[in-house]
Amino acid sequence: MQIYNTLTKKVEEFIPLHGKQVKMYTCGPTVYHFAHIGNLRSYIMEDVLEKYLNYAGYQVKRVMNITDVGHLTSDADTGEDKMLKGAKREHKTVMEIAKMYTDAFFADCDKLNIKKPDIVEPATQCIEEFIHMIEVLLEKGYAYRAGENIYFDTSKLDNYHVLTGHEEEELRVGVRDDVEEDVNKRNKSDFVLWFTKSKFDQQELKWESPWGVGYPGWHIECSSIAIKHLGEDLDIHCGGVDNIFPHHTNEIAQSEAFLGHHWCHYWFHVQHLNDKSGKMSKSKGEFLTVSLLEQKGYDPLVYRLFCLQSHYRKPLEFSYEVLDNVASAYQRLLGRVKNLAPQGEPSAQEMEPFKQKFIDALGSDLNTSSGLTVLYDMLKAEISDASKLALAEDFDRVLSLDLTKQRRQEAPVDEALVAWITERIEERKQAKKAKDFAKADAIRAELLARGVTIKDTREGTVWEMAHES
Ligand code: AMP
Ligand code: ZN
Repeated sequence: MQIYNTLTKKVEEFIPLHGKQVKMYTCGPTVYHFAHIGNLRSYIMEDVLEKYLNYAGYQVKRVMNITDVGHLTSDADTGEDKMLKGAKREHKTVMEIAKMYTDAFFADCDKLNIKKPDIVEPATQCIEEFIHMIEVLLEKGYAYRAGENIYFDTSKLDNYHVLTGHEEEELRVGVRDDVEEDVNKRNKSDFVLWFTKSKFDQQELKWESPWGVGYPGWHIECSSIAIKHLGEDLDIHCGGVDNIFPHHTNEIAQSEAFLGHHWCHYWFHVQHLNDKSGKMSKSKGEFLTVSLLEQKGYDPLVYRLFCLQSHYRKPLEFSYEVLDNVASAYQRLLGRVKNLAPQGEPSAQEMEPFKQKFIDALGSDLNTSSGLTVLYDMLKAEISDASKLALAEDFDRVLSLDLTKQRRQEAPVDEALVAWITERIEERKQAKKAKDFAKADAIRAELLARGVTIKDTREGTVWEMAHES
């Protein structure tokens, strides 16, 4: 597979470190509110990546954290803990809202056919591991204590900006919303590993640590959870582009300082979904959630198709006009698959060229829109319906658009009817053998009267219920 690597800023051949085993880590949601459909764009495209790798013969082990502590309203360690803010808003405890929004997140994922990662780990379950990592960073001289918080010293690294490739990003911290300069920091880009004494005294969840009662910073959780479950190296790390700086930059800094060697080889970043006014937000404008789309009458998988039509590295603008077009296209697509009338077995010879085209399309930096073109071309091609149906099911292992759902929604099979048809066909066979063609024709007519058409083939007589269209 060819894939764009944010680390090298190039499209590269994907070569996992351990043969066919792929270790994949994904930054999970901060569970202080519902996910908006922008967040879910990232998770949809990461889901396609995981499924494509499995389709192409790899075995992916995927880990995701749940941020239920430590993510402040500004990624640069200022503002309030988002979880506390959410709890205040809803007059609940932090753990109550963490549970509620974690469940809501996975319910949304289910509706969008996003597979749950193999391991999902809430940050609050790993405090011991975070403390251990911070202790090692202090011992190795990469961290310091100031104002009773523990900070990572970014000046100790030769190439702190390895992911962004330039230092302008650092300056951006200075122009973020609600930034207050933290006078404890030795360098502007230093970040908090552990908060003890600070203006966040009201923090609801606090833990004992060698540096006093406190709570972890946001970045440490992803490094620590990834290393806990996937070991000292990582093939691919995913997230939205806003995570590149400072979050992923800081993850690399602390993981490599802790491990003493290179950590993650490929960085996969999904561009943002925007609305007309710009970046999608949970506080400004219409809060676009999966439930809202459902209330408006959209099948959530229409939104999945909407995302698959665009390349993950291009910003995507959301509008209801485009979504309406995608909804019609989705219905037409399901209709085409529903109308396939397979007889006999699919043909490997017919299927193989299309499978190869599909692999090539998605293997080209996850070009999902080309993958969809292969699907449409296949449905129009001069191959048997049995092969078409088998291919649609096969591609759906990656696309997860429930392409056969309308077929499954057809009236449930009436077993008594099937038994009756089978008996009639057998009776007709015997009549033909006895050269009683009048009886054979009468049976055919009898079947037709019940809406059953039959066809004699070399493999025997096949039947189907007459189509409405
Ligand atoms: P959060 O819950 O804020 O930690 O974000 C969850 C994921 O959604 C992260 O990978 C973000 O990078 C990603 N994300 C945030 N906003 C957007 C957006 N507008 N479009 C796509 N992905 C986003
Ligand atoms: Zn993360």
